[in-house]
Amino acid sequence: MNDPDWAAKNRRASYNMMPRVENWTAAYKLSQEEARDIAVTYVLNNYLTLEKPVTFGQDGAPTYPKVGERARLKLDNIGGVRFVPDSKAAAGWTMTGAMDLRTAVLAVRLGIYLREESKWGVSTIYWGGMGVGRDENDRHGKGLAIDFHGALTNFGKFDVAANWGQQPITLPNGKTAKAWPLNVMPYFRLDVDTPAGGFFYAVYHFLAGEASDNGTNKESSIGDRSQILCPDTPDPGLRMYHQDHIHCEVASS
Ligand SMILES: [Zn+2]
Repeated sequence: MNDPDWAAKNRRASYNMMPRVENWTAAYKLSQEEARDIAVTYVLNNYLTLEKPVTFGQDGAPTYPKVGERARLKLDNIGGVRFVPDSKAAAGWTMTGAMDLRTAVLAVRLGIYLREESKWGVSTIYWGGMGVGRDENDRHGKGLAIDFHGALTNFGKFDVAANWGQQPITLPNGKTAKAWPLNVMPYFRLDVDTPAGGFFYAVYHFLAGEASDNGTNKESSIGDRSQILCPDTPDPGLRMYHQDHIHCEVASS
């Protein structure tokens, strides 16, 4: 068992196996080494393409990407889904900006879940802020966050702005409003039994299990305080900027 070639071959071969559910770690809790190893596995299984080919050293460990190294992701296949930029800053891009590999794992898992592991059959995700932010030091510029703007599904297109943020809110008193009054704590304004309501509910709860949420073991729901931001986020100052997308992140800095 001390044969270095044998160990190297085994290490190299281990990257061909997709991660198993029984040793699942939420994307935001992964170490940089774990995230790098999972990202390499996704590349070898055609769930992800990085800006450069993955390479391996003599010991069977990847030499690209290195642990802690950020990478640009090709947009035509992230977890089997086409990621289409929905922002002026990224219009025409074929790759994301440089992404932390924990965020890359989050994006691949979101794609696999929405395309293969749920009824939604998502083919396209519209995104913003993947490796591009207002400046290079914010969480989007550092590749730590994703803005989810909408998706093409088996049930049609769902757009966070049109099908959520611009939808009327039924208040506790039965009246409707266009925006949350400051004295009302928000809740999910959509009916989960409608297609759009069910879809955004599924996306939110998937993200609550994989992305940085509320710092507790109890997963948030839509309307609760969370690092996941959406049209029904409780903080009014944050809410006004999240009427057209769901923000999620693996770390804030
Ligand atoms: Zn964001």
